[in-house]
Amino acid sequence: MKILLVASEVAPVIKIGGLGDVVGSLPKALAKIGVNADVIVPFFPTAVVTGLSVYKCYDLSVPFSGQDHNVEVYKTQLESGTDIFLLKNSYYFASGGKNFFAQNYTETEMFTFFDACVVQFVKSALNTYNIIHCNDWHTGLITHLLEDELGRERPKTLFTIHNIIYQGVGTPELLKHFGYVPGSHQLIDWDVADGDINMLQQGITSSDFVNTVSPTYATEILTKEFGGGFEDILQSRKDRLSGILNGIDFTSFPSDITTLNYKTVKSEKKRQLMSKLGMSASDLPIFSFVGRIDAFQKGLSLLAEALPELLKNYGSFVLLGSGDKKWEARLVEIGEKFGKKTSINIKFDADLANLIYAGSDFLLVPSKYEPCGLIQMIAMHYGTLPIVHGVGGLKDTVSNGDNGFVFNDFTTDALLGSVKEAVNVYNTPQMDKMIENSLKKDFSWDKSALEYKKLYERILSS
Ligand code: ADP
Repeated sequence: MKILLVASEVAPVIKIGGLGDVVGSLPKALAKIGVNADVIVPFFPTAVVTGLSVYKCYDLSVPFSGQDHNVEVYKTQLESGTDIFLLKNSYYFASGGKNFFAQNYTETEMFTFFDACVVQFVKSALNTYNIIHCNDWHTGLITHLLEDELGRERPKTLFTIHNIIYQGVGTPELLKHFGYVPGSHQLIDWDVADGDINMLQQGITSSDFVNTVSPTYATEILTKEFGGGFEDILQSRKDRLSGILNGIDFTSFPSDITTLNYKTVKSEKKRQLMSKLGMSASDLPIFSFVGRIDAFQKGLSLLAEALPELLKNYGSFVLLGSGDKKWEARLVEIGEKFGKKTSINIKFDADLANLIYAGSDFLLVPSKYEPCGLIQMIAMHYGTLPIVHGVGGLKDTVSNGDNGFVFNDFTTDALLGSVKEAVNVYNTPQMDKMIENSLKKDFSWDKSALEYKKLYERILSS
């Protein structure tokens, strides 16, 4: 079985968000169980290939926008042994790969072109794949184009939704680039009838199978509340929709915290964290938040409302994140009111993130929705108990009173209710038991890779 994973990023070469981590780690875990998976991504100027041997292996000619474009195919191999194909084009892939994609005209055009390139790649002598595994809106047109161009000869297709809210909505003009004739394609005609093309919708409707990144999110996206407008389409494809939890590649999160030493190591890390951030030493618990400052997804309104009471009555608070400027300012302002009991760090800093995971007692994850969520799993790997809203992957990984705290209503009171429960167990034998439970959990890719193998087998036999 040979799989081609198609995405906008692959860590550590191109890393913008969690998607890059998944695309970088899944092939490594699949290789261990005998599944060969290669990766294909755009060769953005930001790609970090230092220390890797990169060589040109092919030239593609890609018909797009009335011309044939030359695309150079480069190949490299990650340290993990995964083969990566990088597609180079000085016009379409000249920018990108730095920040989260804005889904504006330039970016929807860039990925329309990328999708056209991947189709030519699959039609070329380089194709050795049984399944083309596409990820998120950036790859949404591939499954359609493959069907159009190769019909029954095409490999099977899987489309993974990492976050249904990011859809890649563009002008229908984009479709002219690859020669779409209105009226010729039912699924595209249906999509553009409302005046735009939705790349995520194209991937969902035209791939053989669809999956997402946790079992709970796979059921949530069938509802109006979480479905991003696709709940009806997904209901109609329910028999071909599933959810597989993302794993964590723990080599990126080195930790020496074990069930035997956590008491001494964690208190040392706590001391290091407070001293590094200039916070006043305290025996009270430290609560933390690490992540994108995204007011729509990450439950920041709950956090902001809960903080004054949390800081007055229960402990200290550390935040690390960046994103929405207005929310960054609001969080800094709250922090300033509580002096050395808080440390608000507006930046991206992987080392500080690891120290926060190791040195805090409780990690707050009040997300409104969370397709999978990695931070709660990373925190548990460091013996830090997550306090989560019970949705998506948070619900699948945290069990209340066992390895963390789960609140079900998306309200500040419910969040504070869980904070109080956490404070009640703080420094008790029950907390020790919970820390030990969290350290024993296996969130590595091994289990999830087996699930992917089963899904690939199902796709091939369908
Ligand atoms: P999402 O993919 O929605 O951003 P996840 O919980 O799935 O959220 O993954 C977030 C990842 O990014 C984690 O590995 C987390 O440690 C990391 N991260 C997020 N913000 C920061 C930051 N400011 N500094 C360092 N690491 C961060």
